[in-house]
Amino acid sequence: MRTAVSEALFERAVKVMPGGVNSPVRAFGAVGGVPRFIKSAKGQYIYDEDDNRYIDYIGSWGPMILGHCDDRVQEAVIKQAENGLSFGAATGLEVEMAELICEIVPCVEMIRMVNSGTEAVMSAIRAARGFTGRDKVIKFEGCYHGHADAMLVKAGSGVMTSGVPDSSGVPEGCAKDTLTAVYNDIVSVKKLFEENHDDIACVIVEPVAANMGVVLSEKGFLEALRELCDEYGALLIFDEVITGFRLAIGGAAEYFGVRPDLVTYGKIIGGGMPVGAYGGRRDIMSIVSPLGKVYQAGTLSGNPIAMRAGITQLKILKNDPSIYKHIALLGERLRNGLRKAVKEAGLPWNITGIGSLSCIYFTDENVRDYDSAKTSDTKKFAEYFRYMLDRGNYIGPSQFEALFISDSHTEADIDKTIKDAEEYFGV
Ligand SMILES: *Cc1c(COP(=O)(O)O)cnc(C)c1O
Repeated sequence: MRTAVSEALFERAVKVMPGGVNSPVRAFGAVGGVPRFIKSAKGQYIYDEDDNRYIDYIGSWGPMILGHCDDRVQEAVIKQAENGLSFGAATGLEVEMAELICEIVPCVEMIRMVNSGTEAVMSAIRAARGFTGRDKVIKFEGCYHGHADAMLVKAGSGVMTSGVPDSSGVPEGCAKDTLTAVYNDIVSVKKLFEENHDDIACVIVEPVAANMGVVLSEKGFLEALRELCDEYGALLIFDEVITGFRLAIGGAAEYFGVRPDLVTYGKIIGGGMPVGAYGGRRDIMSIVSPLGKVYQAGTLSGNPIAMRAGITQLKILKNDPSIYKHIALLGERLRNGLRKAVKEAGLPWNITGIGSLSCIYFTDENVRDYDSAKTSDTKKFAEYFRYMLDRGNYIGPSQFEALFISDSHTEADIDKTIKDAEEYFGV
């Protein structure tokens, strides 16, 4: 596979950008090799600067659920751009977007648009703290909620009673109110509630953890979180930045039938444009400025082009339930194919997933939380990744990322990927 142009670009990039990228995982640090610089994409395919074609299993980390360059979204955006790129004032498009989401997701009674998932989470937590008058937040080890200071805590092993920042540059003061529990371990959550009683503002959780690979929430876990939050007067926040509009049109809240108090969105909601949002119960959202005393603002929030892209994609998803069937079937097909491949090769690797989200862990452990996810042999993953990439399968360049399937993918794409994996595993 040709990589000369990507190599040359990377050489220039590292001189002027930290690691040569604007988001760390893109640098391929975990897998080695040169990051491929992408020139264009269409449908299920992505093309790099050396004109290599790949079946894309990242989909911009989720937003491109219809596939790249969907004609309907592209045309809507181009037409919208003719009216101006940004006004910094109220628009009808924002009303349309808010009404659409409130209609799609019953637990969202009011919503505020922001520009990224990070911003959505940061703002939702501020609203939860403002509403409850409490400071402490419970998150789960291995769940990613963007890079706001208070969320860059995943703690060491086991349950900790006070946060230790994961990133340099995060003052301990910013992390001390972040408590971490173990995913799928309700006892670890209960313990934190018992120790901190009236101090917990909220529990934030990825209803399917899709940033430590793909770890499913086990039956009853989300329900038990709901009950604990009610018992202690804390709010339950679903971080649906990945699961929103993906597991089902109404996201994980609909899929699992558990009603959170607040929800955060990103990725799919913008149709590929930089958008995030947080919303939920009317009484909680009424605390947000200018209605209430929790301040939160954004120069480009509700940007008309971004709203048009998001609305167009969401309407397509809402009006065509067959999309969810299609991507879930392809997800099943991929997981079954990979499971069969590793089984025939006599390997103990674990394939996890739900709907259009999948992951292969190079461990024989049942992956159900951060510690078990970390038992995966990341060197083996890196080798697998490079093998698959060189054969035109573009999967996330880290063990701990999900593999995303779009509506543009076909059975033939999935079968090609399975065939390459079979070859790699020596079937
Ligand atoms: C991607 C992601 C975020 C952060 O969103 P950005 O738009 O990258 O800031 C937050 N939460 C979850 C669950 C995510 O997957």
